[in-house]
Amino acid sequence: MTGLIAQAIARSGDAYIGGAWVPASGAERLPVINPANGALVAEIVAGTSGDLDRAVAAARAAFPAFAASPVAERLALLERIHALILERAEPLAQVLTLEMGAAITHARAAHVPFAAAHVQAAIEVLRDYAFLTMRGTTAIVREPIGVAGLITPWNWPLYQITAKVAPALAAGCTVVLKPSELSPLSALMFAQLVHDAGAPAGVFNLVNGTGSEVGACMAAHPDIDMISITGSNRAGVLVAQGAAPTVKRVTQELGGKSPNVLLPDADFARVVPLGVMAAFRNVGQSCSAPTRMIVPRARLAQVEALARETVESIVVGDPTQESTTLGPIANQAQFQRVQTMIAVGIEEGAKLVCGGLRCPEQHTDGLYAHPTVFSEVSSAMRIAQEEIFGPVLVIIPYDDIDEAVAIANDTVFGLGGHVQGTDLAQARSVALRIRTGQVHINHPAWDAHAPFGGYRRSGNGREYGAFGFEEYLEIKAVLGFA
Ligand code: NAD
Repeated sequence: MTGLIAQAIARSGDAYIGGAWVPASGAERLPVINPANGALVAEIVAGTSGDLDRAVAAARAAFPAFAASPVAERLALLERIHALILERAEPLAQVLTLEMGAAITHARAAHVPFAAAHVQAAIEVLRDYAFLTMRGTTAIVREPIGVAGLITPWNWPLYQITAKVAPALAAGCTVVLKPSELSPLSALMFAQLVHDAGAPAGVFNLVNGTGSEVGACMAAHPDIDMISITGSNRAGVLVAQGAAPTVKRVTQELGGKSPNVLLPDADFARVVPLGVMAAFRNVGQSCSAPTRMIVPRARLAQVEALARETVESIVVGDPTQESTTLGPIANQAQFQRVQTMIAVGIEEGAKLVCGGLRCPEQHTDGLYAHPTVFSEVSSAMRIAQEEIFGPVLVIIPYDDIDEAVAIANDTVFGLGGHVQGTDLAQARSVALRIRTGQVHINHPAWDAHAPFGGYRRSGNGREYGAFGFEEYLEIKAVLGFA
């Protein structure tokens, strides 16, 4: 284990407040479990409302100077943070593997570089951003909203942190971060990294703890000006309710059940394997994972065969091994949820193409689920409607394009979407009919500047790039300015 990981574990009892590590005051200890083997990795001390008050006071005190700091200073800070993420990429990847089971190759290739990319995107936005524009004699001024409370989940822990912290700092906000209590070690490493990058005291603060204690206090806190939460629908709703009396801005990135429409002219041999792997990326624990593959009924048998073949190529196992493509589910509660939903699919009468419930004799210590594909699924089934957040793909047949679009939109969610087709005009037209915050045509490269967020119950507001940055700004009109 590298020194930086050992240092993060040694900080399990601390909060980072006002530029210094201080002991958290709670009595409760929250275990951090390695999902690959059930080993206790660390115990964090759950923070309290008192810890949060101290962090908010530090952020509030630091706000006026940081809000007024020259753009060049904030750019320099973000550039140092970016450089340190790249410099510490390997221990960051290893700690993610340890705390939530990301396969090490995936942590190296996606979790860490994409986390760095959010910082880079914030740098690029800030460099060119016009904080003051004119409309006739009226000035439109953008100002940082104030103290931002940031609540993040366990599934892409570091990535979700930088997607919030980088634009908040770029905007001139000061922040209090509460990472997931299930994967707090990468957050502790990140806090040290921000410290080492030379962030002024109070600009960045971290308090560990549970959602029901620290998270709920953040939502209600009178001195926090906005909350950005990524997590479950349940937590997003509770935060909005808790925030309402103080009329703070709430940005929510919540769940999804994203469609992947395969048009009849799609290159099936290419897009079915890519679609399966996109659904199972990060062990299916991605809010925008395309977990509903919507396919022409006439091609169902071909799609099933290609999906089965793809799943057979997946190597499930120890996430520290470079040969592993799919590690364990990140935590016990999520593992149970995935097993429950696989059982539901079987009970609902969906056709099990491959996978299924875990055999107890396999991987007994780790939370390994079988990558599972159901076919002949109808849109009314629970496995087609509920977010499973694990390696479970459902294949739903359609008879014509209008029906494919109707199935794609037959959900309370609206986060991600995919369309595959050779005729780009048709693929575009279907993409424009899908009611989600992002649609990907033919598996393009990831774009750190593309706004990300949800329609309907997938959330409010957008993250990434310029749109994510503007969530942290207020708008002031000064009439008679010119
Ligand atoms: P979760 O809602 O349990 O926890 C997310 C965060 O919210 C954690 O930090 C948690 O402590 C906090 N929290 C929980 N209850 C809270 C409360 N009452 N008040 C304030 N904070 C509270 O979710 P999770 O299990 O960590 O993450 C998985 C979920 O997140 C999935 O449903 C997934 O779809 C969603 N997710 C969404 C996105 C997105 O961008 N839309 C990204 C990743 C994950």
